[in-house]
Amino acid sequence: KTVDPDLQKIQDRMSTVKHKILVLSGKGGVGKSTFSSQLSYALSMNSEKQVGLLDIDICGPSIPKIMGLEGEQIHMSGEGWDPVFVQDNLAVMSVGFLLETEEEAVIWRGPKKNGLIKQFLKDVSWGDLDYLVVDTPPGTSDEHLSIVQYLKNSNIDGAVIVTSPQDISLIDVRKEINFCKKVNLPIIGVVENFSGFICPKCTKESKIFIPTSGGAEQMSKEMNVDFLGRIPIDPLIARSCDEGKNYLTAFPNSESTKQYNIIFQKI
Ligand code: ADP
Repeated sequence: KTVDPDLQKIQDRMSTVKHKILVLSGKGGVGKSTFSSQLSYALSMNSEKQVGLLDIDICGPSIPKIMGLEGEQIHMSGEGWDPVFVQDNLAVMSVGFLLETEEEAVIWRGPKKNGLIKQFLKDVSWGDLDYLVVDTPPGTSDEHLSIVQYLKNSNIDGAVIVTSPQDISLIDVRKEINFCKKVNLPIIGVVENFSGFICPKCTKESKIFIPTSGGAEQMSKEMNVDFLGRIPIDPLIARSCDEGKNYLTAFPNSESTKQYNIIFQKI
């Protein structure tokens, strides 16, 4: 039986990363990348922790913009590919840094995508990390199978699955949960994003999406996975993302930050 030498290199590189968390979603546009970025910011608020954020959404990398790192390029050093630092203890790597222009579409087939994921895992010089947050593409595709396979000897802590409340989104989350079970990827829990809108004038909550199935919490119960909490629709979250700013420090006392913190405590 031949052993892939790259897998050994990945294992060596990952041996200095304590915790690895994957962020998944059934569908696109439910707020997965936003959640990955806020989780990374939150973990790095403890200045003693080193945090890495890896974006393997190869066809639609949005992490560079959300993290305010548009136009940054990757540099090589003797150690490998240097990630881009947002602050001393928060480093980011994304395929977005490899593209010439923002609009450049990446239309790659499976093997090429897998090759890049492999390279990200074995060549990025993260150094010692307490947490590596991995933002994945929506659904369960080549990228997910690859990362689970490449990290199988490196102890992934688990996956956080982000969904919106609509049944259409929840159907795909069930598939996502079944995928995790099939590949033995532990599920940390489910987060419901876009969960109601709190009017800034009257502070009353409007349910924008009313799922007939009872929403993500009910689905989590049925699928026997933990429900971590819900984040409301908040225009200031969207604006912070567009501006590449840390929402949590910009609005430390908001209802959304309170909800984020409830979730982060469980991760
Ligand atoms: P995904 O990674 O699932 O495709 P994104 O994280 O890119 O989704 O989010 C899609 C859009 O929704 C972005 O414009 C983002 O700023 C916005 N968004 C995400 N979460 C919220 C929220 N809780 N309230 C308001 N806007 C949000």
